[in-house]
Amino acid sequence: MSVISFEIVYRGIYQKTLANKISRTLVLAAVKEGKQGISFGRYSDSPERNGIPAKLFGYIADNSEELQAVAAKYEPKQVDVSICVDDTMCKGVESWAWYGLQPITAVTKPGGTLIVTSNYKTDDLVKHIHRRGTPYKLAIVPGGASMAGLWVYKNDGTDARVLGAALKAEPSICSMASLEQAIRENIGGDAHIEAARASFEDTRSDEVKPGQGNTEVPFTFQLLKWTEMREGVVIDGVGGHNNYRDLEGGYEPGRNEVFKKWSTRTMRPVVAFDKCTKCTLCWIACPDTVFDVTPDGYFDANMEACCGCGVCEAICPVSDCITMVNEVVFEDRGSQYLMWKKDAQAYQGYLTDKRKKGKVEKRFPITGLAAAFSGAGLDGGHNLNSAKAKSVKDFK
Ligand code: SF4
Ligand code: SF4
Repeated sequence: MSVISFEIVYRGIYQKTLANKISRTLVLAAVKEGKQGISFGRYSDSPERNGIPAKLFGYIADNSEELQAVAAKYEPKQVDVSICVDDTMCKGVESWAWYGLQPITAVTKPGGTLIVTSNYKTDDLVKHIHRRGTPYKLAIVPGGASMAGLWVYKNDGTDARVLGAALKAEPSICSMASLEQAIRENIGGDAHIEAARASFEDTRSDEVKPGQGNTEVPFTFQLLKWTEMREGVVIDGVGGHNNYRDLEGGYEPGRNEVFKKWSTRTMRPVVAFDKCTKCTLCWIACPDTVFDVTPDGYFDANMEACCGCGVCEAICPVSDCITMVNEVVFEDRGSQYLMWKKDAQAYQGYLTDKRKKGKVEKRFPITGLAAAFSGAGLDGGHNLNSAKAKSVKDFK
């Protein structure tokens, strides 16, 4: 029996079209050679939510009996190829208040391949990916996260290039000729085919050894058994408390202990406390009640709770006081305020370094509160995608 399985991990809504095109085209390419396949969505909320990590899965089998045998399961426990179309999800994905945080390679087979679209290098990503006991291969498709969402298709060739890389990882899926035909029928013409071919040729993978990577243990929790549930629907208030961390004074709002939301984030706000006028606008405007109030009246964005929407940056009236920075350049979720309090000069160095490394190249122009609430940060802090040999306009 020979079945190839794959998953595509994407940002809900924002990358839905991209993920669909990759998944569907891969299956249809194999079907052209008499194989059987299925592509299906799982593990995303219904309705899928903006930016929350979501997954598509796919099976490609030699015949329908094999396909039925594997597709009878809810979702694959292991896949040959994991495709992640936004590198910030290398830090783990939390799609529901259901699993806790899942490492990005949670279902990648031992020896399987993780393909990530990224402008960063292997080492930059491996340090975020939770270590595991078995090896896997990591392949990078150069480029930022393409936001080809539910209602828009950002035609920048990311789909074709990921497909070329997927075929390189698992050449038994189909021939390049079948993939090209499927791309032509489902995605686009010569530019896309050329991009897929170039990606097939250029993609290299590095082996990640057991024990390499992020040493943090991803948080998990036990769901209640049905016998433990209370009668009726009870939604507890989350409350809050009148002190900031272990200090006297300030305020920390209560937060959901089983849905932390930070894996939703593609960029995070960094605050230049030296510039802050304590105007309170970020605190009021944050849609997720992320800011803790410090005893001396500053507002500290809690990095466990922030979803990275960018509203605070848009609303802050002080120039360069709040800046959104690509999430990939951070290795911790600690308090920025405490770091600043401890050593303001060192914090300034930290700010400068992070802003330089994780500069957000392209953002929607946002002026004023109304604009901020209508779509801040939809681009997720990422660069425009570009195939090596092509510019974005070549794909129009
Ligand atoms: S980025 Fe959005 S969620 Fe995070 S602190 Fe700013 S306003 Fe709140
Ligand atoms: S909006 Fe800017 S200036 Fe106002 S409290 Fe927040 S960080 Fe400080």
